[in-house]
Amino acid sequence: MSRIDLHLHTTHSDGSLRPSEVLTLAKAANVSALAITDHDITTGIPEAMAAGQEFDIEVIPGVEISSFDGQSELHILGYCLNWQDEAFNRQLATLRASRHRRNPLIIERLRAAGLDVTYEEVKSLAGTESVGRPHIARLLMQKKYVTSAKEAFDRYLAEGKPAYVARELPTPEEAIGWIREAKGVAVLAHPTWVKATGEGLRTCVTALKEAGLGGVEVHYSTHNKTQTAAYLELAQRLGLLVTGGSDFHGITKPDIEVGYGRGDLKVNPRLLDPLKEASAHL
Ligand code: AMP
Ligand code: ZN
Ligand code: FE
Ligand code: FE
Repeated sequence: MSRIDLHLHTTHSDGSLRPSEVLTLAKAANVSALAITDHDITTGIPEAMAAGQEFDIEVIPGVEISSFDGQSELHILGYCLNWQDEAFNRQLATLRASRHRRNPLIIERLRAAGLDVTYEEVKSLAGTESVGRPHIARLLMQKKYVTSAKEAFDRYLAEGKPAYVARELPTPEEAIGWIREAKGVAVLAHPTWVKATGEGLRTCVTALKEAGLGGVEVHYSTHNKTQTAAYLELAQRLGLLVTGGSDFHGITKPDIEVGYGRGDLKVNPRLLDPLKEASAHL
């Protein structure tokens, strides 16, 4: 039986493989449909669609937008959207600009910690406008300051570590609104990032639904069975769509494979039609 994977990053944001390379891995993993969900950018979609035609894999246009609700950093996925929409892409450009304001501050802190790195090097390694901390992690790996991206985050880049700098982020309501205006279905990514639990989690997701959220990423690489069951129950209770994906990034998350996550991820192709159906009604 085939599988789908609705959360994948490429070199157009902080993934380490090109869209066509991600599609090659998807073909090998028997993935019948996938979504490219690069952070704050849609430029990887045409190459993915061309490779999709070649490999007979359905490619759903997607995006992932980071937001902050005052307590948690929430990532909102957008699916089946008019990815060429001008207003939407102008909005994404402002988000990429906020990355370029933050990243040099991170570099300053790394230099203050004695590391010989420049933002020019990061931008040249990234080769895209959507530059993120994983690119900085890769530079630290190349320069042998760390042996893995995890070590780069654990020692320098994660929240609370010496080189952490917060980014100006939109609210989840704003991110959902932009996706909806581009006729996309907005989905809450990796819901474990919601710091509230129990009743607080329900209240949070209910508010997002009122703002136009259409689904929850129930199936995710790091979810255990208990978490998957709890998010499934939450989605069903609130009448939200169920989605799933690996959050593949290539070298910065080496334990995550396209279609399989850490090995036990399996997203059922039957989840795709309800998503497409929902987008058709927007
Ligand atoms: P940014 O968008 O620049 O804030 O970077 C956040 C991204 O870094 C997330 O979307 C993840 O893909 C990645 N990330 C966060 N923590 C880690 C980690 N410990 N190891 C590798 N990648 C991470
Ligand atoms: Zn990422
Ligand atoms: Fe994310
Ligand atoms: Fe992601």
